This record gives sequence, C-alpha cells and structure tokens, in this order.
Amino acid sequence: MGLPIHFVVDPQGWFCVGVIFFIWLYNTLFIPQLILFPRFEEGHIPAAAIWAYYGASLFCVVSLLRASTADPGKLLECPKIPLREKDYWELCNKCNLMRPKRSHHCSRCGHCVRRMDHHCPWINNCVGEDNHWLFLQLCFYTQLLSGYTLILDFCHYYYFIPLKTINWDVFMFRHELAMLRISTFMGIVMFGGMCSLFYTQIEGILTDLTTIEKMTNCCDQVPQVRKPWQQTFSEVFGSRWKILWFIPFRRRRPLGVAYYFANHV
Ligand SMILES: [Zn+2]
Ligand SMILES: [Zn+2]
Repeated sequence: MGLPIHFVVDPQGWFCVGVIFFIWLYNTLFIPQLILFPRFEEGHIPAAAIWAYYGASLFCVVSLLRASTADPGKLLECPKIPLREKDYWELCNKCNLMRPKRSHHCSRCGHCVRRMDHHCPWINNCVGEDNHWLFLQLCFYTQLLSGYTLILDFCHYYYFIPLKTINWDVFMFRHELAMLRISTFMGIVMFGGMCSLFYTQIEGILTDLTTIEKMTNCCDQVPQVRKPWQQTFSEVFGSRWKILWFIPFRRRRPLGVAYYFANHV
C-alpha cells in the first residue's frame, strides 16, 4: 500500500505490544486446532464458523500492526499553515514548533501529535488524528475475537457433546484443558478491558473530546456546539461511508475539520 512506517523506540512499549501479539498468536494457533477443526470434522459447526474466526483474527492483527506503525499525526518541522487557519495554531513550548490547536506534546515520543488522544503503550504509539480510527478498529476487533473465543471455550465444555475422534497423543490434545483455561483467562481479561476502553473511546468521539481533553477538563468552560454523531465519527475515520469505518485495509482521507472544535470555527 506504500504506507510510511512510524516506529517508536521504547523497549517497554515493545514488551506491551509483544504481550498483545502473543495473546493473538496463541488464540489464532490453538483455538482452531483444539476446537474449530475437530468440531467441524464431527459436524457440530459449519465451515463458516472457522472462516469467521480467521476473518476476525486477520482484521484484529492488521489493525494492531497498522495502529502501532502508522504515523499518528506528527507535526512537520516547517508546516505550511493555511492563512485562514492561522488563528488556530500555537507554539509548542517543548519542541518549539507551530502546531494546530488540540495538538499535544507526547513526552514518550518526544514530538507533538495532531488531535492527540493519548499515548498507548499497548500499541507502542501515540493515538492521534491519523491513527485513531485504526485504534478504534483494534478495540472493536479485539472485543469480537476475544468474545468469540470465550463463547467457543464455553460451548466446547458445556454445550457441545464430547468429541469422539481426537488424537490424544498430540501434545495440544494431551494438554487441552490447561491450554483452554489459559485461553479463557486471556479472553476474559481482553474482553473486559476492551469493552471499557471501547466504551470510553466511543463516548469521547460522540462528545468530540479526546482522552487528554477529558482528563484536563480543558473544555468545561467552552460552550460546545454538539456536532451530529455521523460528523464526529466521519472526521475520526476519514470517510462518510460507514462500511469503511470497519475496514483497516485502506488509506484514511482527512475531512479537514478535526483541528478545532466546531465552536472555535
Ligand atoms: Zn511539541
Ligand atoms: Zn507518544
């Protein structure tokens, strides 16, 4: 796709991304082997259930890789400030560069990011104007995948009838119970964590406030003109086509209105 790779040098961040990637890899490798394929062979589930699992897994890992390697909206050294936007730019006192309002200086990354939401160690990247949409997709698909995994873990033991033909000599079937317990534990942690994160993110988009703005209560005094939800979501996802909000295999096209609040314009 010819996308430039943005890479944050932070060993602690690499560790966090490694944990998330490990959870994804563990489930993508073992759940089909332990549950999906044997259940399909015995006719308990349709092939579509396997495709759906791999589909959710693919969307999850693509949004993870893209969110962590996409440029979140780093400011250029010498930005061209459009004349009509001049009043909405200010000087960052940390990096001494001009930046549009709602930008924030990330001390972890060492630069300013346009419409920065927060720095996320779990993707080892800032979440800003250009990759916020990928971060939301990551939260959504992680919820989907971990929720699906939990349902499969549950059905495998309590709902489906026991398997007849399985090769107990193979390592993973000999340790099936322990492996599924690990998967269930990771599923509960991921699903719970992602549900609360996704809810706060959606609330932030609906109110057109970033996490940093909410935490600093910077906008309490500013009377906000409420934008319609379609508008705030379109600005974040860079498209008015709702189907594209779910697709991580594309380029975001900025709608050009996210620098400032509607009431500032
Ligand atoms: Zn700065
Ligand atoms: Zn950062």
